[in-house]
Amino acid sequence: MAEFTMELNDEQKEVRDWLHGFAADVIRPAAAEWDEREETPWPVIQEAAKVGIYSLDFYAQQYFDPTGLGIPMAMEELFWGDAGIALSIVGTGLAAVGVLANGTEEQIGTWIPQMYGDANDVKVAAFCSSEPDAGSDVASMRTRAVYDEAKDEWVLNGTKTWATNGGIANVHVVVAVVDPELGSKGHASFIVPPGTPGLSQGQKFKKHGIRASHTAEVVLEDARVPGSCLLGGKEKLDERLARARERAKKGGERVKNAAMATFEASRPAVAAMAVGTARAAYEVALEYATTREQFGRPIIDNQGVAFQLADMRTSIDAARLLTWRASWMAVNGKQFTAAEGSMSKLFASETAKKVTAQAIQILGGNGYTREYPVERMHRDAAIYTIFEGTSEIQRLVIARTLSGMPIR
Ligand SMILES: Cc1cc2nc3c(=O)[nH]c(=O)nc-3n(C[C@H](O)[C@H](O)[C@H](O)COP(=O)(O)OP(=O)(O)OC[C@H]3O[C@@H](n4cnc5c(N)ncnc54)[C@H](O)[C@@H]3O)c2cc1C
Repeated sequence: MAEFTMELNDEQKEVRDWLHGFAADVIRPAAAEWDEREETPWPVIQEAAKVGIYSLDFYAQQYFDPTGLGIPMAMEELFWGDAGIALSIVGTGLAAVGVLANGTEEQIGTWIPQMYGDANDVKVAAFCSSEPDAGSDVASMRTRAVYDEAKDEWVLNGTKTWATNGGIANVHVVVAVVDPELGSKGHASFIVPPGTPGLSQGQKFKKHGIRASHTAEVVLEDARVPGSCLLGGKEKLDERLARARERAKKGGERVKNAAMATFEASRPAVAAMAVGTARAAYEVALEYATTREQFGRPIIDNQGVAFQLADMRTSIDAARLLTWRASWMAVNGKQFTAAEGSMSKLFASETAKKVTAQAIQILGGNGYTREYPVERMHRDAAIYTIFEGTSEIQRLVIARTLSGMPIR
């Protein structure tokens, strides 16, 4: 187990500087254009693929870094560049992690390369869990997967919503109900291969922020996938369902809580994205406050402005510390006894929303225009308190973990 450290080693610093260079030279200059276009920035993803940032190898390297700092450091730098474009670059990782976590070696080897494509022909992947009536309440998911034993195929029916890269993905990972009696424990994940008949894109959403990232409904109408597309395989699923049925007999509520806990480990990554956006807005505000003059002196000369910047930086550093701690715990298999993953996501996402709003205030009228990036950063920051579990759900998870009570 690696000791917790707040100091990046030389290799990590090199990676951080390389990512920062890409974020500053490639992502940041393209941010306003793709925000306006509200389209997936394929050329930027391709650039990222060419230099090795858009690849499974890169994420696996950061993911398995025993210090736990690899992923948060990478996310912070890319999202410092721009949240919408960065999500287009890392969104495939959500689906890839779904396969890495639940898939067999064969499934990992077959599907993950198809999620990324290659630098000459980049592809993206989508992870489809949320539904119109199942957002925070994952257990009320309705998309059904029924096994057709004669053909060894699974038949998927339902509507997924809010899927990042939904409909434009080469590979979709779809979570569906295989046993409706078991709530979220009766769910399983499926690969939907490229070109599967019955999968189509529904509405594409016009969003408030992260507009360079494609978000859409995914409709499944009798979409048939081979038995080999069930992640982890049928035998493992049958064993898991049998165990869940036993546990459900003893207490249904505990089944639901356990499902919530499984998201804990991925939350520090989202927290780090929020830290990146917050830091970007803070830096713009600091620079502006030292150069903009009113009443014959820089506006930072006023405590009202200087103290805001002091608070902004303090919150960002606190958010990063919570994030690094949670990420180190997740990588080293430490149990989140106080929902530390949720704590990091809650604090960092709320910090990003607040700090980006403060940045607009410090820039005055300029902050409110698209001539400066902070209004975009503020629109982008709002997503962090919503996806991967809203702030209210994080508080629920923390409170339940601390108290052991089924708080509603
Ligand atoms: C841009 C974007 C990208 C996304 N990408 C993906 C993706 O790739 N894949 C995917 O599967 N999903 C994705 N999501 C879905 C996202 O995870 C959900 O939007 C989120 O989980 C919230 O669900 P909901 O929108 O249905 O809100 P609801 O669950 O309806 O919540 C509405 C409000 O009620 C509050 N609330 C609900 N229950 C409680 C409670 N028990 N206690 C207190 N307050 C409560 C919530 O906090 C929130 O404020 C994405 C969403 C967006 C907006």
